[in-house]
Amino acid sequence: AKVIDPGASIVLTKLTEAGYEAYLVGGCVRDAVLGRPIKDIDIATSALPEQVMSCFPRTAPTGLQHGTVTVILSQGTYEVTTFRKETEYEGFRRPTSVEYISDLTEDLKRRDFTMNAMAMDAAGVVLDPFAGQQDLGLGVLRCVGAAEERFGEDALRMLRCVRFASTYGLEVEASTWQALLAQAPLLRHIAMERVRSELQRMIEGPAPARAVRLLLASRLTAHLKKQLPLPFEQWLAWDDALDAVSALEGQHDRWAMLLMLLEMPADTVRTALQELTFSRADCQAVVAVLALCEAVAAQLMSGGASQDAAFVQDPAPLERVWKLGAVRSGEAAARALLRLLRVLPQCTEQRGELARFLQTAAPVLLRRGEAWLKEVPCFSLKELAISGTDLAVELGRQPGPWMGMLLQQLLERTALGEIANERESLLLAARAAK
Ligand code: ATP
Ligand code: MG
Repeated sequence: AKVIDPGASIVLTKLTEAGYEAYLVGGCVRDAVLGRPIKDIDIATSALPEQVMSCFPRTAPTGLQHGTVTVILSQGTYEVTTFRKETEYEGFRRPTSVEYISDLTEDLKRRDFTMNAMAMDAAGVVLDPFAGQQDLGLGVLRCVGAAEERFGEDALRMLRCVRFASTYGLEVEASTWQALLAQAPLLRHIAMERVRSELQRMIEGPAPARAVRLLLASRLTAHLKKQLPLPFEQWLAWDDALDAVSALEGQHDRWAMLLMLLEMPADTVRTALQELTFSRADCQAVVAVLALCEAVAAQLMSGGASQDAAFVQDPAPLERVWKLGAVRSGEAAARALLRLLRVLPQCTEQRGELARFLQTAAPVLLRRGEAWLKEVPCFSLKELAISGTDLAVELGRQPGPWMGMLLQQLLERTALGEIANERESLLLAARAAK
């Protein structure tokens, strides 16, 4: 344990000296065995919560109902949980009440996968009753015990299975996968928040395409608590685009690209992300990119500019839509869309409206989009050289909703280069507008 973390080794030693058993358990042991960076450290002990609290001067009762006490040391904080058994699972979720036990192996047995069911003692010796190390050596993700039962006890484990298989590059062992296919419908018992958190971690991880393929193969997305209005099967038709997703950094770009491939209206995607309990900021960042793409594509379809070469011969209409789109959806969305376009055109399989957009507008945007953004003097009302109050005073009008509308109009005209972003020019234009 010393090699993993000096604080953890203090906790283990203290508990052992007091006559209890204590081990590192779960993810930190797995990552230590794999030589990967360790995130949170979990400790399991035979000591009861009160006994843990009496061993250390500073503790916090962070999860007493699960038998968890957080030990606070100058080296860090450590979650210490009494060995326990989860006897009754209710409603296909993990129980809230637990039974304390004295045996480490029993505690490891309730864990989801063999690689997550290993322990390490204070001397750094790995205890591995379910052969997690062997499975890791084989590159296999396997449930502890009877997989169908384990997924039946807690349906979230199926999503964890997909997440671990994709992020750790493991094959799901055959009987574990069969069980997952059989139990997939139970996912509907799991809260959307927990589903979202797993999905986000898969997409942020090193192998988002693999995660998407496993999700589709498992049909887990067909069994969410709330049905999402998104045609996930469409991802199958974008095989090489899926692989391109990992070339994007950060979850916002990745989600935007994945969702773009589904070719649904931005508003529908917004609703789906809200159902998935995406945070407001995450949802906004992703949807803004889709809305911008939609606005540009809509322009492409209308106005007779649908000849493939139209934007090459006369890029002015596209420039206009792009600049307007960038002030409406925001500069961040515009830059994100360019990043997406950089990886998308390399994809060979192209279909439908999105394909048309990619073939016609994308090459021009990739060449000129960045430069066009540089010409935009300001992207938001905050940066505009005039405020709503200025307008009310100068025009001698009562403040009201008209101010926001007029400001937006002025912002868009500065973006198009029709007005300079200077107080006098803006006032002149405002007077002319009213
Ligand atoms: P990461 O922190 O990277 O998600 P982890 O394995 O540490 O991986 P945690 O959710 O932090 O995952 O859980 C810690 C440990 O608790 C796991 O390693 C596993 O042993 C056990 N565990 C967590 N969730 C479940 C579950 N749904 N069913 C059974 N055991 C679980
Ligand atoms: Mg963890």
